[in-house]
Amino acid sequence: MKTLNIALIAHDGRKADMVSFVTKRLNFFNREDVEIFATGTTGKYIQFAGIKKVHALLSGPHGGDAQIGAMVADKKIDAVIFFRDPLDAHPHEPDVQMLMRICDVHVVPLATNYMTAKYIVDWFTHNRSEERR
Ligand code: PGA
Repeated sequence: MKTLNIALIAHDGRKADMVSFVTKRLNFFNREDVEIFATGTTGKYIQFAGIKKVHALLSGPHGGDAQIGAMVADKKIDAVIFFRDPLDAHPHEPDVQMLMRICDVHVVPLATNYMTAKYIVDWFTHNRSEERR
């Protein structure tokens, strides 16, 4: 079965949401055919929450969002779950915009809130890998 590569990112104001989200779905995130990539600090939180294997990239403000954007452009990511904080300013806002734009350019599913993320994970949980695209 093809590996499903999922990127997880949460701004500081949304990290609690991300922990809550993954904690309820550990069976999915720890599946053998699922690989998780995360920005630095988010990676630590989700490992603490119970995801066993996380490929940690740089922290978002230090280029982690840009690294994930490059992976999306290289077709190495199947979905991005990006809990961004709409109520706070971020020094790396250009990278945030870039990542969302690149997802749209390459038609990669992008969830920026809990419910959309739930729908994406539910879909992957209930559909066979061959039906992904
Ligand atoms: P972080 O980065 O996981 O290292 O906090 C997320 C972000 O701010 O984009």
